[in-house]
Amino acid sequence: MNCPCFSGLPYANCCEPYHIHVQNAPTPLALMRSRYSAFATHNADYLMRTTLPAKRKFHDKLDLLDWAQQNTWTNLEIVEAVDNIVEFKAYYTDVSGKPQIQQERSRFQKLSDKWFYVDGI
Ligand SMILES: [Zn+2]
Repeated sequence: MNCPCFSGLPYANCCEPYHIHVQNAPTPLALMRSRYSAFATHNADYLMRTTLPAKRKFHDKLDLLDWAQQNTWTNLEIVEAVDNIVEFKAYYTDVSGKPQIQQERSRFQKLSDKWFYVDGI
């Protein structure tokens, strides 16, 4: 199957190795893409695991799972990826069937050789 992050690559050669713990995402961009595909595959564990430990208390796994399941994840567009910042547009169809676009600049941080999601504006 094609990767749910819409890279055009097979899932097995894109985000799957990160989702199944075989590898850590090597860059903020790779981590961002794998977090989008984690939403698409309802993988709330991965979303929590890749959030900076100090920030996890601001997220709830069941809320993330709910949000992931309610929406249909239709496309991902990267606007810019510079240093530890990735700006993207996440396309999805919400629970009422309305197309939505979430644009965000996400911040990432490296901790003992692993990238984590910090927050987004
Ligand atoms: Zn992917």
